[in-house]
Amino acid sequence: MKNIVLFGPPGAGKGTQATLLKEKYNLVHISTGDVFRYNIKNQTDLGVLAKKYMDEGDLVPDEVTIEMLKAEVNKNADANGFIFDGFPRTESQAKALDAFLSEKGEQINGMVALEVSEDLLVERLLERGKTSGRTDDTDEGKIRNRFNEYNTKTAVLKDYYQAQGNYFGVNGVGSIDEITNRLAQVFDKL
Ligand code: AMP
Repeated sequence: MKNIVLFGPPGAGKGTQATLLKEKYNLVHISTGDVFRYNIKNQTDLGVLAKKYMDEGDLVPDEVTIEMLKAEVNKNADANGFIFDGFPRTESQAKALDAFLSEKGEQINGMVALEVSEDLLVERLLERGKTSGRTDDTDEGKIRNRFNEYNTKTAVLKDYYQAQGNYFGVNGVGSIDEITNRLAQVFDKL
């Protein structure tokens, strides 16, 4: 299996690129943000809980997110591999993912990170907010809080995967095609 963590700050283009790369490599794309939004739309208990955090740009608690991720993986027992998008976002999620995959005799082949500066991302997110319908994309204060969550809880995951020799940074500035090509060069090697 090819199991890849597609990493990067909010607005880096993970969702766009994962949609293209899952086709190219025949992988299952799991976006925890999308799964939460689906649950919010359908007003499930999970959705009601997640909404409180997401509306503020805070991370949803680890236990809830980890259980949800495991269930999504287990729904796809026949998969060739996964692109994890927006997960893990904390060190405890990364450890839980490693333990969960290793129980299945699997592992993360690599973390592939889209590297983009924060100022460019705030602009991109405000632009996306005009059409995405995402309340967490329309308020600069909430966007800044998402970056704060990223910088304080998520960015350390670079060190976590680097320590395993599994971190691959890619320049995330350019056209969609250019960036897909850069990512594919890394995916090919994993
Ligand atoms: P995203 O679509 O990846 O930008 O995620 C949108 C929001 O969903 C985040 O700001 C968090 O509130 C929540 N979320 C998504 N993935 C996670 C995760 N792995 N851990 C905690 N919260 C998450």
